[in-house]
Amino acid sequence: MITVVVDETARRVRLRVRGTVQGVGFRPFVHQLAAAMQLDGFVRNDADGVLVEVQGRRLDAFIDALRRQAPPLARVDAVELEELASRPDAGFVILPSDPGATRTRIPPDVVTCDACLADLNDAQSRFYRYPFVSCTHCGPRYTITRRLPYDREHTSMAAFALCPECRADYANPASRRYHAESLACPRCGPRLSHSIDAIVALLRAGAIVALKGLGGFQLLCDARDDAAVRRLRQRKSRASKPFAVMVGSAAAAAALASRELEAIEREWLESRARPIVLLPYAGALAPAVAPGLAHLGVMLPCSALHHLLFADDGTLALVATSANPGGEPLVIDGADARRRLHGIADVVVDHAREIVVRADDSVVRAHAGGAVFLRRARGYVPEAIDLGADGPAVLAVGAHQKVTVTLTRGREAFVSQHLGTLDNAATLDFLEHSVRHLVALAGVRPERVACDLHPDLASTRWAERQGLEVVPVQHHVAHVAAVMAEHGLRAPLLGVALDGYGFGADGSAWGGELLAIGAGCWRRVGHLAGLPLPGGDRAARQPWRIALAVLQQLGLDDSRFADLDAASTLRRMLVRMCVPQSSALGRVFDAAAALLGICTVQDYDGQAAMQLEAAASSVPPCVPLPHGAGFTLAGGVLSLWPLLGALADPRLAPRDGAALLHATLACALDAWIAAAAAAHGLRVVALGGGCVANRRLVDDLLARLRARGLDVRVARRVPCGDGGLSLGQAHWAREAACAWQYPHASSSCCLATAPESASTAS
Ligand SMILES: [Zn+2]
Ligand SMILES: [Zn+2]
Repeated sequence: MITVVVDETARRVRLRVRGTVQGVGFRPFVHQLAAAMQLDGFVRNDADGVLVEVQGRRLDAFIDALRRQAPPLARVDAVELEELASRPDAGFVILPSDPGATRTRIPPDVVTCDACLADLNDAQSRFYRYPFVSCTHCGPRYTITRRLPYDREHTSMAAFALCPECRADYANPASRRYHAESLACPRCGPRLSHSIDAIVALLRAGAIVALKGLGGFQLLCDARDDAAVRRLRQRKSRASKPFAVMVGSAAAAAALASRELEAIEREWLESRARPIVLLPYAGALAPAVAPGLAHLGVMLPCSALHHLLFADDGTLALVATSANPGGEPLVIDGADARRRLHGIADVVVDHAREIVVRADDSVVRAHAGGAVFLRRARGYVPEAIDLGADGPAVLAVGAHQKVTVTLTRGREAFVSQHLGTLDNAATLDFLEHSVRHLVALAGVRPERVACDLHPDLASTRWAERQGLEVVPVQHHVAHVAAVMAEHGLRAPLLGVALDGYGFGADGSAWGGELLAIGAGCWRRVGHLAGLPLPGGDRAARQPWRIALAVLQQLGLDDSRFADLDAASTLRRMLVRMCVPQSSALGRVFDAAAALLGICTVQDYDGQAAMQLEAAASSVPPCVPLPHGAGFTLAGGVLSLWPLLGALADPRLAPRDGAALLHATLACALDAWIAAAAAAHGLRVVALGGGCVANRRLVDDLLARLRARGLDVRVARRVPCGDGGLSLGQAHWAREAACAWQYPHASSSCCLATAPESASTAS
């Protein structure tokens, strides 16, 4: 009995807990912990996160547990401690939120937790087969929240008054539904317009169902019913762009794959965010699901509602695609769905829980020991990217395709959900709405706005209307800066952009770039030799145009395109006119796909490259064409013309050509990047751009570069393509002393003293 006092005498401390600590069950967790350890004091939400005052013995154990045992959705970034004088206190209480609670975060939407799934399947539970069951560990968050603090009255659940049973759970710190703002039950919560049985029966009968999901309406149909899938394609005017499918379990997903799933693929499939995961596809579903591709996007149920669809039949496979008619943003409102999806969906399944902000399903792909995002939205937004240091509040608005916006606050960067292509008024409205929503959630006013260097983009013009200082950032610099932001990389380093089109600092089309990055400045030290783009934008949609121009320039037979209507016109034009050039790697893929007869006209962005990768996957890796035969390298300019000449050989089988393309590209890009790294004395490489999503190419390239001892980083937490641009723009606009030097650095720029031999302007 004498030994007890040695521990320590009672202390009182104030703990400031920062991170994602509101709306995640943190306060009841603290309450239970304090009660179990017989401590006195209080916990409350406030403007900076959670504030705890606690008094008693063994406080170090309490603080340790605060970090280690935090609830699943919480992310504790820091616990700051201040010693206070002890004072009389009795018991531990949860105090009401401080109304100034704005400098915090809300978590993304989260898949139904195991405990709620158990309730869903428990005939004795009041949540039995209730599609909107949730608790503090799961359910919608971002998509139902209007503003902070995250309290029920600031969410779309405010429309549903809690029944007595739910109110009792909500008020009980011992319940996992204590202050669960998304709480609802069949008595008091939203109801589905159709029964689950009716929905499943309709799907089974070949119907196309529009279902209000977490972040918007999805179009569903039976993925084994080819007629239904083709009907969906025809009604959606979507000829061949692949659809994603939803299946009931990881085992069902694995059964669709052409090889055993990698651990990381399984992990992503089953993660709380529930993204669509691109898997190698064995082709067992309806042929119209993913025509011509060796990959399939697969997701598991992301909410209780989706779980119920598979409850009675684990073998069901559903096409699940965003309901975004005409390339406009996702439909989120029932009345809007009945109007705009009329003629597409046979049935609209609605409910009264309002979606405050839309969020598409996220798409990821396993890749070189990690994963890359193809689309980042539901389940990840608004998780913050840590920029490593404080800086001004900056808003960035991306470029044109796959646009996201980013807002920074202190050292955090909030990257919005995927917004879409800014080629219609509705998507621009969505951008505006998303900016307002981010500003409301982050509680900061931006001081400047970063945009693309292209003066004519809708995003650039929008930025110029905001009355803030505008910082234009070159497209490929932004790709590189996004990788720097995410990995905390500091200049100097070598930036590499393997991309499609981006507006170059000289006004021409860039997209295969080597950039020496200094502290807030950059210089173009290399690029791909240009390819002709006859017809400009049309050439990107119709790869045969580039291929024909390549054949002409190489003096090779181009009769393979003679049947195409516009071919003779194009031939005449090539003789008479000066054709714009592009240094984009994406155009090399386009040209190769058309030369090999794999894809001459693209129905969707990136189709040629995806089909090339699919073709290559059917044969083993091959020996690359070496320097000279496959490519040439001179003064930082990499020419892939020899490779294209080789691919023009009509005796080459398409899939062998596709394999040769990938192998030779990896070899050529490796030599090009390594030469620049050596010439500039750089060892760190930030690799960005849309082509980084090509696993066949990038796995090979990364292995080669890393074998040389280079430290190569790619984007892991935001898309490698244009969906990551806004993060890069925001980061660059905070860092940039001189935003864009081209072709020569100014005297104030640290790159001005770089060795002249490195200059490769051509
Ligand atoms: Zn739950
Ligand atoms: Zn209730």
